[in-house]
Amino acid sequence: MQSHLLSRYGSIVGEKEVQELYDLASPFRGKEIVHVNSTKQGGGVAELLNSFVPLMNELGMKCSWEVMEGNQEFYHATKTIHNGLQGNPVEFTPLMKNNFEETGRQNAERLKNKLENADLVIIHDPQPASLLHFCDNRKGKWIWRCHIDAATPHPEVWDFVSGWVEGYDASVFSMEEFLKPMPHHQKIICPSIDPLSPKNALMDILLVARVCRDFDIDVCRPVMLQVSRYDYFKDPIGVIRAYRLVKKEFPDVQLVLAGGGADDDPEGQKVLEEVYRESGGDEDIHILLLPPDAHLTINALQRAATVVLQKSLREGFGLTVSEALWKRKPVIGGDTGGIRLQIDHEYNGYRVKSYVEAAQHICTLLSCVDTRCQMGERAYQHVRENFLVTKSLKKWMNFAGSLA
Ligand code: UDP
Repeated sequence: MQSHLLSRYGSIVGEKEVQELYDLASPFRGKEIVHVNSTKQGGGVAELLNSFVPLMNELGMKCSWEVMEGNQEFYHATKTIHNGLQGNPVEFTPLMKNNFEETGRQNAERLKNKLENADLVIIHDPQPASLLHFCDNRKGKWIWRCHIDAATPHPEVWDFVSGWVEGYDASVFSMEEFLKPMPHHQKIICPSIDPLSPKNALMDILLVARVCRDFDIDVCRPVMLQVSRYDYFKDPIGVIRAYRLVKKEFPDVQLVLAGGGADDDPEGQKVLEEVYRESGGDEDIHILLLPPDAHLTINALQRAATVVLQKSLREGFGLTVSEALWKRKPVIGGDTGGIRLQIDHEYNGYRVKSYVEAAQHICTLLSCVDTRCQMGERAYQHVRENFLVTKSLKKWMNFAGSLA
């Protein structure tokens, strides 16, 4: 019999898709599957796992989610790795390397029993990558899942990371450009959004209006929105500059920057201070610092927005893009990484290389409601066909099945 949760997905993606999920899940029923990442809250990986883990359990697997424990130095080292993998010329010191290894060793001691006995272990991103090295008696398959835009990594950082991940049975990346020469099987699987999660489920328009009122956002005037951690790669400064150009043409436009920290991101405060400075006290720029569980608030803001931006300079995927497209919003995104998979230029949004280009397209959208509606409808369909959680879960099961 179908579970209540899965039957709710059926009403969105169709019964056939749900039946396929059950069929693909049958070899995994009762199997121990462990995901490991570096934070329970904040950022796309936590968002994904919040949907994936319950769904895998609903399909009969024994799926659990473990989180790395580390000190400030560890997160500083892993943020350096993150920045280096995304192409920044970082200084990656021997002390950072030691801290990375030592934290891996300590976490492996804590998790060893569980990880060694699991049938499948999925390690997300570099932070927990060293765990495999300390689990000599593993029983199951181990997959390294890289969510980062690793197209042009800093060579020293990639050498370091690949040294830890070469021993895995396979690795998974979000797009072809990110693949690397490695001695194991590699697969491309896109991340996805959950249409039933509090962040994406349908929402009463009155609640949308109330959330906007709480933040002094005027729903009768145009709203530009970017939802992101305060991170240089998300280019919040570029967004403010685009807003200033738009403001010359549309004086009543408002900008909402909605963000918060992630437990594993030590750079946020610095970026936030720069954002405050750049905004110069403009009352139409709303800089929101949200708690990591503000899913309904983000859902409401995405629904209230006239246009949504994701002006990233590098992006592994960018779940916020699909989240907004799903709400029938055209998205203006940086022409980079996983944003290219989601935004079909001039079809469901625009891909841009500069804030000037972003401003031009925002003006086009603000001046024509028909264009916004047409693009918005295509945006929704594009996500429905390509980026919902049921689709990526099927790909995962197919792939994991092929390894076994
Ligand atoms: N997000 C959130 N609160 C914030 C900022 C972001 O809940 O203040 C969510 C956002 O809605 C998305 C995820 O965090 O679901 C970010 O994922 P994305 O892939 O866009 O970027 P990442 O942070 O992983 O680089």
